[in-house]
Amino acid sequence: MRFAFPPPPSIAVPVLGTDERFPVHRIYCVGRNYEEHAKEMGFTGREPPFFFLKPADAIVVAEAGQTVDMPYPSLTQNLHHEVELVVAIGRGGQNISAAAAQAHIFGYAVGLDMTRRDLQTEMKKQGRPWCIGKAHDQSAPIGPITPAAQAPDIASAELWMQVNGIDRQRSQVSKLIWNIGEVIEHLSTAWALQPGDLIYTGTPEGVGAVCRGDIMRAGAEGLASISVRVT
Ligand code: MN
Repeated sequence: MRFAFPPPPSIAVPVLGTDERFPVHRIYCVGRNYEEHAKEMGFTGREPPFFFLKPADAIVVAEAGQTVDMPYPSLTQNLHHEVELVVAIGRGGQNISAAAAQAHIFGYAVGLDMTRRDLQTEMKKQGRPWCIGKAHDQSAPIGPITPAAQAPDIASAELWMQVNGIDRQRSQVSKLIWNIGEVIEHLSTAWALQPGDLIYTGTPEGVGAVCRGDIMRAGAEGLASISVRVT
């Protein structure tokens, strides 16, 4: 095949403990999937899960043991962190039941759903799409993927996030409103999941702003933690 210009490089995330990389297909994100976060955003109760996407090339790979730079994005005065458990899909499918979901999971990672909150809020107010608030360049930092077999207790893992060494978010994956299996069940009715899909499963309470120069550290029990500098 002859391309009109060189195709963009593949987007890929390291797989912990191997020299393999996980090639990214799509990034799905779940909105308001922890009760205390739904409350801090002005909502209550259990609503059906809803989804938005980020482009695959929004990924910022945070290699184990390193601090990676993430540029402060354009247009915003209120860039928020949202720490999330990320599920990496290894086997695709449609209409996957929650009970069968585990067989489709390649592994897990810690990710940050970076959000231009001021732009998202304005789009919400106007009933417009969230893309400009959620899907900007470098909006999806992620750490190495731990294969599922090496993270057996992820459903009860603690999930945490610090800015400059101070706790901002600390919760448990067990507090997900829609658990991992249920998220995969709902998502796979709407899209055919493919190997390489990443699912950011939602953030607990404690979201807040970061500034240039801040160091964000985030982790989940049993997974590689990440360190990201806002530049
Ligand atoms: Mn989020």
